Amino acid sequence: MIEINNLHKSFGSLEVLKGIDLTLEKGKVLAIIGPSGSGKTTLLRCFNLLEVPDQGMMKIGEMSLQFQQGNGIRTADTLALRKRTGMVFQSFNLFPHMTAIQNIMEAQVTVQGKSKAAARSRAAELLGKVGLGDKADAYPHQLSGGQQQRIAIARAMALDPDVLLFDEPTSALDPELVGDVLKVIRQLAAEGMTMVIVTHEMRFAENVADHIVMMDGGVIVESGPPEQVIGNPRSPRAIQFLNRVT
Ligand code: ATP
Repeated sequence: MIEINNLHKSFGSLEVLKGIDLTLEKGKVLAIIGPSGSGKTTLLRCFNLLEVPDQGMMKIGEMSLQFQQGNGIRTADTLALRKRTGMVFQSFNLFPHMTAIQNIMEAQVTVQGKSKAAARSRAAELLGKVGLGDKADAYPHQLSGGQQQRIAIARAMALDPDVLLFDEPTSALDPELVGDVLKVIRQLAAEGMTMVIVTHEMRFAENVADHIVMMDGGVIVESGPPEQVIGNPRSPRAIQFLNRVT
């Protein structure tokens, strides 16, 4: 489903990704952990070309892209990739002037060309799925952070993406609201949704992920099933990091 080879990305003279290799099978959940500034978010943003890698290869589903510094990516490829990848941001990024249901309908109408009625029906279904069937007509400012994040997840699901990408989905939330969001993500995992999750929640990563990679300084320093990466890490950097955060 996802294959990445030798991915590099720099911002000016700062090399943030220094040759990343990854594979993820369909229906599996990958968690990306690691210290602040290690390149986790940048890697995640490469998956849907919010950041364009300088070098390397990326395959998502049937789409394969080669990157070379100086060569742009065709707009058609960017749009095609974004339809396949739903993104959930740390700070929700809902459209503030639209109700919950309008947020979930929007891309179905503008990107997929669905009728409003069909989009509304799918949006209502997704609202039910994230436990917010009664909040269809609420505006984002009328909702808690946890509710907004669940709407954002429903919005990302609305285009039936091949993979859902989460960038620290709970780190902007009050602790008591984290559980509801994690529950929705856990439910999606159980349904076989392919997901990549950047997270600081080690217990959650351990619990929900099939595979964990730990990044440090732009490289992957540990990679494997949770029981290995969190339970029995081998690299000194991983041991040090995990001792601090768990
Ligand atoms: P955190 O856990 O704190 O979110 P992270 O592991 O997700 O960190 P990134 O956000 O990927 O790390 O950032 C990696 C490095 O790249 C940091 O030094 C950051 O300042 C830098 N960086 C990220 N985005 C940009 C940008 N658009 N322009 C310049 N530097 C950037």
